[in-house]
Amino acid sequence: MAKEEKRSLISENLRDKFNEGFEYVLIHYRWVFVCFFLLPVSLIYDIYFYLRSWVIFNLNSAPKHHDKKVKDVQRQVRKWKEEGRKTPMCTARPGWQTVSFRKGKYKKTMFNVKVNLMDVLDIDVEKKIVRVEPLVSMGQLTATLDPLGWTIPILPELDDLTVGGLVMGTGIESSSHKYGLFQHICEAYELVLADGSVVKCSKEDNPDLFYSIPWSYGTLGFLTAVEIKIIPAARFVKLNYEPVRSLEEAVKAFEKCSMNSEENEFVEGIMFSLNKGVIMTGKMVHSAEPGKVTLAYL
Ligand SMILES: Cc1cc2nc3c(=O)[nH]c(=O)nc-3n(C[C@H](O)[C@H](O)[C@H](O)COP(=O)(O)OP(=O)(O)OC[C@H]3O[C@@H](n4cnc5c(N)ncnc54)[C@H](O)[C@@H]3O)c2cc1C
Repeated sequence: MAKEEKRSLISENLRDKFNEGFEYVLIHYRWVFVCFFLLPVSLIYDIYFYLRSWVIFNLNSAPKHHDKKVKDVQRQVRKWKEEGRKTPMCTARPGWQTVSFRKGKYKKTMFNVKVNLMDVLDIDVEKKIVRVEPLVSMGQLTATLDPLGWTIPILPELDDLTVGGLVMGTGIESSSHKYGLFQHICEAYELVLADGSVVKCSKEDNPDLFYSIPWSYGTLGFLTAVEIKIIPAARFVKLNYEPVRSLEEAVKAFEKCSMNSEENEFVEGIMFSLNKGVIMTGKMVHSAEPGKVTLAYL
């Protein structure tokens, strides 16, 4: 065997051994990886993005840069057209940044368009509207709105979910008996279409497009801004737990609580078994009864 061949065989063996060892550590000593790598890196990543968002919002620089960023998306789409539309387009966002466990293999073969729009653009308290870019996450939006005494009416609990993902993907896990689904609190969208043009749509303006956007997975265009309703946020949520002892009782109680949307801003139910469950109702309040505050609200 030639010297060169021998050397590459040895290095291949070493690489395999290293990969096996690494895999073993990841599986059997996962806590080492989680505690000493994943958690610190995630914390630094979050701090960086929250600080960035805070500075940009307080400098009010995002609206000035928005048009420039949209023009960059248009430039990429026009380039795709000029190059003969060889493969379909997709967002260039890598899989590890999304909350989905799916690896987007299609991104390797498609024409990737960078939609790096991640800022809160404007809060209009008169119209009760917040205008955001699609990569704004739920955590980022809460951190911006909460200190000002506002919130969005439907707030998905996972901080990393983005406005674009919730609108274009199926953000339907968090819904409200009062406001509907996430798309029902969206008042207007701005998109870059496949011909490179920018279009705005709302219930009045281009309604066909407006109603087709939710769950369209980016097939109609690249989302570049969304206008979302906001409502005043109180400091506490007063919860009431009503035990139920059958499925029938649970359905009845759930229906009754959901109908009373004036009194109940939140309604949620959990069945622990076929005959044991709880229906929880909540209402935003400005002060808490002494001794009844749980840590989550401190
Ligand atoms: C672990 C987990 C927990 C979840 N929890 C909740 C929950 O609590 N509440 C809830 O409502 N939903 C929940 N979901 C569902 C979630 O809302 C959807 O999977 C959502 O699509 C994920 O959004 P993302 O921000 O990760 O976006 P992505 O996965 O990046 O995007 C989703 C889709 O939208 C398209 N898209 C995104 N941005 C744009 C854009 N700017 N222009 C064009 N197309 C775009 C992407 O191409 C993709 O097809 C959960 C999902 C998972 C996996």
